[in-house]
Amino acid sequence: ARHEQIRLELVIQGALMLLQEQLRLRQIEICVDVPSKEIIVLGSSIQLEQVFLNLLTNARDAMVSNKQKRITIKCELKENIVEISVSDTGTGIPLDLEKRIFDPFFTTKEVGLGTGLGLSITYGIIQDHGGAILLENHPGEGAVFIIQLPLFAPTG
Ligand code: ADP
Ligand code: MG
Repeated sequence: ARHEQIRLELVIQGALMLLQEQLRLRQIEICVDVPSKEIIVLGSSIQLEQVFLNLLTNARDAMVSNKQKRITIKCELKENIVEISVSDTGTGIPLDLEKRIFDPFFTTKEVGLGTGLGLSITYGIIQDHGGAILLENHPGEGAVFIIQLPLFAPTG
């Protein structure tokens, strides 16, 4: 599965498609900012779609109704990597919990609403793809998850 060449934009679109109806119903606005140049990474499209599904459902769950609800997905090409950020205008993460969000089974959601596995699975998938995932947390204002993935470099 590690050898599939994947167009990142299609993976993001796939995840968005699965969620677009419920995001619309909750009046969550989606902004996607992807360069027109094709972004190719090597890996598993199913797993990478799972990553975006996880981040998007977390962003959805973090939205509170008295605030502008927006999720922004942005891709930026750097030298050998692509950096994808998923930002939301939700609650952000309380500072004292920040260190635990990637731990398996850590959840602040009610029983039945969260398994606490999403971010730990996400972390594993990104590691497995030779990438990194970072949190930029703004308690009370929102969260930004930044993913860095190596770009596919054709040889010869
Ligand atoms: P789950 O969604 O099942 O709770 P996750 O591993 O996906 O498990 O997330 C763990 C916890 O991290 C969540 O319960 C929540 O407290 C916090 N979290 C994750 N993403 C966000 C976000 N975008 N905004 C606020 N809190 C978040
Ligand atoms: Mg989750």
